Amino acid sequence: MSDNIIINIYEARILAKEEIMNYFNERKMLMKYEIYDLAVLGCGPAGLSAAVNASIRNKTVIVIGSDYCSPPLHKAQKIDNYLGFPGISGADLLGKFMDHFRTTGIELISSKAQVINEMEGAYSILVQEEVIQARSIVISIGIPYRPTFPNEEEFLGKGFGYCATCDGPLYKGNDVIIVAHSNEGETEANFMAEICNKVYYVPLYKNPGKLDAKIEIISNKPAELITSQFVEGIRMKDGTEIKADGVFVLGGETAPDRLIPGLEIEENHIKVNRQQETNLAGVFAAGDCTGQPYQVAKSVGEGLVAGLNASKYVSRLTRR
Ligand SMILES: Cc1cc2nc3c(=O)[nH]c(=O)nc-3n(C[C@H](O)[C@H](O)[C@H](O)COP(=O)(O)OP(=O)(O)OC[C@H]3O[C@@H](n4cnc5c(N)ncnc54)[C@H](O)[C@@H]3O)c2cc1C
Repeated sequence: MSDNIIINIYEARILAKEEIMNYFNERKMLMKYEIYDLAVLGCGPAGLSAAVNASIRNKTVIVIGSDYCSPPLHKAQKIDNYLGFPGISGADLLGKFMDHFRTTGIELISSKAQVINEMEGAYSILVQEEVIQARSIVISIGIPYRPTFPNEEEFLGKGFGYCATCDGPLYKGNDVIIVAHSNEGETEANFMAEICNKVYYVPLYKNPGKLDAKIEIISNKPAELITSQFVEGIRMKDGTEIKADGVFVLGGETAPDRLIPGLEIEENHIKVNRQQETNLAGVFAAGDCTGQPYQVAKSVGEGLVAGLNASKYVSRLTRR
């Protein structure tokens, strides 16, 4: 394995922001020309509330969320404690939130934010192959992150990563394993198939499709990373092993402090004050990701506070 694998793009971002921009340019990633006032990460109750309230304050807003906004709310069969809607199903309540949201005309990108980088007073957010820029951010990405492998944190940048598109060039000609929680992993797997010697794809969802013929699909479930100083592969639940130079977990939850380096975490939640401010200027957080109780009303309320305070922050920044 090449030594340069220990310096992945995540670390490079912290070390040299200019280099990252060169990297984006080399990869011909699309940089949206517009700088939004606010980018909201997550389109559950907290994110939608933040977006709607910032939009009412005349701010330009973009929401980055999953295909299926709020999987937990969608699963709730009956909600009895959201004021005004006794007994409503989670799916119907979410439908009402979405209907309201759509009246605002706010842009919604159905994808997850991968990494965020602060540069010259604005935040650059990598979403698939696109870079979105915003002056402020509301993080509303739901319940705290659960790792896929027990010790994955320890091996981040040592053959383990969360963004194959970012680290791909470091694995040129090597063998990699992609463990994907959703079909979002397919695009990255196809990209890796172009540059790697061998790509194993371990889908943790049903009916994978759109994969390059060179990719080998593994249907067993993964159990743990095989490691020495670096990651050397994965062991499956049935005891079989797959050896590789790199392992990526894609389409799952991303730990917030990995999304934005330097973000303060307290007891596994994003630390905020009553203004929903985090320790980073212009970065706010709302909803389940800030702590219990995990409830819709709390998420909507915190989303409102975060959206309003992000709007104030941008007004001060731009004096409008
Ligand atoms: C079975 C069940 C029953 C429930 N019953 C009730 C109830 O009766 N009453 C009640 O008040 N609450 C209930 N809840 C809880 C409620 O659904 C949550 O508290 C609420 O959905 C939290 O809203 P949120 O916006 O903080 O997060 P979520 O609704 O979880 O939304 C977060 C969104 O962010 C997305 N996301 C994650 N990472 C990223 C990223 N990197 N970039 C962009 N987007 C990202 C996720 O895909 C998700 O769509 C229930 C939950 C479950 C599972």
